Amino acid sequence: MSTVFDTKIEFLKGVGAVRAEILNKELGVYTFGDLLEQYPFRHEDRTKFYKIGEVFDDTAYVQMIGRLTSLNSVGDGRAKRLMGIVSDETGEMELVWFKGAKWIERKLKVGSWYIVYGKPQRYGYKLSIAHPEMDEYDQGVSQAKSGGLQPVYHTTEKMKAKSFDSRALAKLTRTLLEKVYHDISETLPEYLIKENNLISKGLAVAWTHFPKNPQTLQQAKDRLKFEELFFLQMKIIASKVGKRTDKYRGQIFDKIPTFNIFYKEHLPFDLTGAQKRVVREIYDDMRKGYQMNRLLQGDVGSGKTIVAFMCMLMALDNDAQSALMAPTEILAQQHYNGLKPFADDMGVTIELLTGSSKTKDRRRIDETLRDGSLKIIVGTHALIEDKVDFYNLGLCVIDEQHRFGVAQRAALWKKTSKEKPHMLVMTATPIPRTLAMTVYGDLEVSIIDELPAGRKPIITWHKFDKGRLRVFGFMREQIELGRQAYIVYPLIEESETLDYKNLEEGYESVSRAFPDYKVSIVHGRMKPADKDAEMQRFAEGKTQIMVATTVIEVGVNVPNASIMVIENAEKFGLAQLHQLRGRVGRGAEQSYCVLMTGDKLSKDGKVRIQTMVDTTDGFKIADADLKLRGPGDIEGTQQSGVLDLRHADIGQDSALLQKVRNIAENILDEDPDLVKEEHAIIKQQQSMLVRKSVTNWSRIS
Ligand code: ADP
Ligand code: MG
Repeated sequence: MSTVFDTKIEFLKGVGAVRAEILNKELGVYTFGDLLEQYPFRHEDRTKFYKIGEVFDDTAYVQMIGRLTSLNSVGDGRAKRLMGIVSDETGEMELVWFKGAKWIERKLKVGSWYIVYGKPQRYGYKLSIAHPEMDEYDQGVSQAKSGGLQPVYHTTEKMKAKSFDSRALAKLTRTLLEKVYHDISETLPEYLIKENNLISKGLAVAWTHFPKNPQTLQQAKDRLKFEELFFLQMKIIASKVGKRTDKYRGQIFDKIPTFNIFYKEHLPFDLTGAQKRVVREIYDDMRKGYQMNRLLQGDVGSGKTIVAFMCMLMALDNDAQSALMAPTEILAQQHYNGLKPFADDMGVTIELLTGSSKTKDRRRIDETLRDGSLKIIVGTHALIEDKVDFYNLGLCVIDEQHRFGVAQRAALWKKTSKEKPHMLVMTATPIPRTLAMTVYGDLEVSIIDELPAGRKPIITWHKFDKGRLRVFGFMREQIELGRQAYIVYPLIEESETLDYKNLEEGYESVSRAFPDYKVSIVHGRMKPADKDAEMQRFAEGKTQIMVATTVIEVGVNVPNASIMVIENAEKFGLAQLHQLRGRVGRGAEQSYCVLMTGDKLSKDGKVRIQTMVDTTDGFKIADADLKLRGPGDIEGTQQSGVLDLRHADIGQDSALLQKVRNIAENILDEDPDLVKEEHAIIKQQQSMLVRKSVTNWSRIS
């Protein structure tokens, strides 16, 4: 089944053994096909020529025509560099090379005219270009040669050192395209190409390397993105369709008398518009007759708990029980505390079950779960133990999705003799909708994107370590007003001892700085009981300052705590900073978050801190996080395939993703096994993709 694209790269004209080895090692290019898929990461517009006098240091890349008037080596040893001057009738420009000087000196001739291309920078009053590209200027010919959009390819330092640069790659790619263009076969059905105004695969590949103009480049990109997202969605949805054909019937929750009483008479506040919308989405889902699988996203404090409770009432109204499962004991406890007042108010039975539940309680819980008199159970993993049996589990709410695996979800499904329970997965880690759609292909997504009215957005500042005294001063003012404060230290597992020392020292210095106040300390090494007791003291206002590690990220709700100081804030990821900050701003008072850092911040570090200062919107933060880290580090993306996207950007191409998803869904609805003639091509490409990923794996190992 091998094709011309499997030809070894050394057989391409202009490659040979040496370059072949560089291509193998530096770029992972082994075959013709691999080289074609080394797409340029940008293109340069080489249609305009500047006069030197028109160039400023804020001009991006420019090309000029000038005469090389001097070329000299200056400096010694490491400081050695090659300096040149080009000039035209409007002025002079300095050129400098720090590397490859010998080769360049040999190539360039003083007195000749060149097309000079590069990014100018100002040094004092001089403009200078480092490592410019130099093309001998040969009137007439060069104009034609250098016109249009030039591809820029990724190359490595090693390649540059061997003057195997982007332009050399472009030349090879052009040679290759001329040779194999007609062998590039289509991968999408003809009707999809027509309906979606796409160009052919062959043209797309050719134009993504060598577009005639920006429009053709765009067409090429559109086509490649479409194809990429299409095959990804086909894969994801196919697994979902598999489930659908299994006919996961669901219980029908259409009677809602208790829900209505609660909603009309007991609800202590008005729901936000977003809460209402989400409750409606869930209700519509749970009476369809199919099992619900829904992700409920909502920022910290957006009011997910009440939504969950109202859904539990719907279950109860239809003779079903509900379970809420949380990843930690503290979190389970907090959910229980949050739900209990509502449940009590409605006379609904509710219990907490965790690993540390007493045997006596446990027995009662087991019994009432089995006979159906217990309506709501809140707990940890203990809930999925074999011993636990339900009378009729109808709704499962899972908090903090990312800590539960698919296997655990499935274990809960087995807990019922009737239809599988409806699943509502809640997360406060906002994931951009597009990413959620891609990653959780099997989940519908509901979003609470509105905070209850009257919340004061948390004010966030960035302060450097040297300003700590003033930060402490501010803390003191706030504490004197009766508020409480958190001081958080990072705790990174690999260096736990070190961080622990940081924390201890921090605790001591805080105690010294606030001798008249009481300081709590909480960290992951404490016994759960001690930890809880200390948290309790803080929650009751017996201590004013809580020095802690990130254990407080989940699990504490102290509305009177209105300041959070985060030490070494640059060490935290955006998602974590956001979760931490969510611990304040829960009461009526204005809350503050102070991010402390050292003077030196990495570029990403700066962006993270600035994002936190600029916004409290979890979705904006998640988007920024996605841009910074790529989807690779965001929970749950590892197996999803979004990591391998080369053309599309799920952040930016969300509209296309939505469209492609609908198309893929329709195809699989109509032709789940792709047996129709026009779909043969899809199957073919799918097996091609599988084959390719197998080859890639075998190369790695
Ligand atoms: P989270 O989404 O972080 O779980 P919670 O459900 O804990 O948020 O809600 C945070 C607080 O806001 C709780 O005290 C809750 O009672 C309150 N709350 C929820 N919805 C509303 C609303 N619509 N109006 C006012 N307060 C609300
Ligand atoms: Mg919550």
